[in-house]
Amino acid sequence: MGSKSDHLNFVLIPLMAPGHTIPMIDMAKLFAKRGVNITIILTPLDATRFRPVIERAVGSGLPIQLLQVKFPSEEAGLPPGCESADSLLSFDLMPNFFNAVTMLQKPMEEILKKLNPTPSCIICAKHLVWTVDTCKTFQIPRIVFDGMSCFTQLVTNKIYVSKIHERVAPEKPFIVPDLPDEIEFTKIQLPGSFNPGALNIAGFREQVRKTESQAYGMVVNSFEEVEQRYVDELRKVKKVWCIGPLSLWSNESLDIAQRGNNQDSINSDQFLNWLDSKKQGSVIYACLGSLSRLSTAQFIELALGLEESSHPFVLVVKTSGGNSEEIGKWILEEGFEERTKERGLLIRGWAPQVLILSHSAVGGFLTHCGWNSTLEGICSGLPMITWPMFSEQFLNEKLVVQILGTGVGVGARAVVHLGEEQKPEMKVMRNGITKAIQRVMDEGKEGCERRKMAKELGEKARRSVEVGGSSDLNARLLIQEIAQLGKSKQ
Ligand code: UDP
Repeated sequence: MGSKSDHLNFVLIPLMAPGHTIPMIDMAKLFAKRGVNITIILTPLDATRFRPVIERAVGSGLPIQLLQVKFPSEEAGLPPGCESADSLLSFDLMPNFFNAVTMLQKPMEEILKKLNPTPSCIICAKHLVWTVDTCKTFQIPRIVFDGMSCFTQLVTNKIYVSKIHERVAPEKPFIVPDLPDEIEFTKIQLPGSFNPGALNIAGFREQVRKTESQAYGMVVNSFEEVEQRYVDELRKVKKVWCIGPLSLWSNESLDIAQRGNNQDSINSDQFLNWLDSKKQGSVIYACLGSLSRLSTAQFIELALGLEESSHPFVLVVKTSGGNSEEIGKWILEEGFEERTKERGLLIRGWAPQVLILSHSAVGGFLTHCGWNSTLEGICSGLPMITWPMFSEQFLNEKLVVQILGTGVGVGARAVVHLGEEQKPEMKVMRNGITKAIQRVMDEGKEGCERRKMAKELGEKARRSVEVGGSSDLNARLLIQEIAQLGKSKQ
């Protein structure tokens, strides 16, 4: 006999960027484990990246089917095979990338027509604006997943409604009205919709904003206990289900080791042995996400800041991007790797982040405050050294440093938009990095207190996904609601 959910088919369509696809794959497993059929639609590039993890899930009996849609790279003026935001050679191509995303409506609808069981809802990135019409055609609810926290949703909503950012000078701090806490920002720290960079995507952003508000509801990769007052406030204006931390729904060891990439940049025995040789809680793990690309001068400040902190470190070095060769040359020619080899480990390319964060030798996470990374740091019970760069990352820093009290900032002052990394005035200096590391790793009262709070949060995160935990309950409520909507349609 089938389960109560086996007539349901949730269609998951992520935006083509690791920060979206990775949590959506986790989400697929979360719902499939509760008996819901899942259809996840990926481009060929992402299908290659994620097929192993999906095949393992299917092999363990989960009802997930992976379907592919051709990404119209060439039609949108992108090089062939450029199918994900992290594969863009230059971020100047972002408008072309969003054009390609917009062209996906027809081929996706062709796929949806053939699904059996028929789709019960679409869970998709807010950037897939055409899904509004698609969901109308198929008469199913559209649930948006934009990969950000409730804190961010609420702050951006309050700024949007009050338009306070339009009345202040770029560097003048202002308090965001009507929030549970006194939260201060400057305009130059805000996401692109309030603080645009050089990219000409204002029209697309406006479409996203409009269509986002037409969604039936929103799933959030967060757990209530980490931002309860913000969840409560957001629920006054939106239907919200916090079902995270999504990374915790994936606990198979190979899935953790290959998260986001099935090709190892580094032999895992090699770095696990290296971590095993270090004192508990002594290592800084430094990784700035999947998209950010540091200028060479900025990379040098980071490397030297880590070196001067005198703590052991793992540093993830990007191998894509225009200046990656130049950075590679500096590492070798200036003797950085050789000089720090007892204390430092460089991972070139993709790092198994969640695996590293869970190792007991790691004592601090230097992060760019992408929301996935922020949550992964929270789940691992680690204090964070925060270096926000673009998008809503300054908001995530605010949550971690001011509200949760588990982070220390390196002193980043303003958003560095993707593609604008060369602007010298935005540079974070090495002594800011070293000082923040020292404060986080400090053995005194302040450091111990911060570590204790981080550990407690990690435990709360874990409890939220256990049976009866808040995220487990929210996931069940969402399934029930979609099932109910389906019944009332019959
Ligand atoms: N990630 C990883 N290894 C890397 C770089 C990134 O596993 O070398 C993962 C990271 O764990 C997170 C995601 O990629 O799940 C990045 O998402 P986030 O929201 O933190 O930042 P973005 O890359 O979108 O800026």
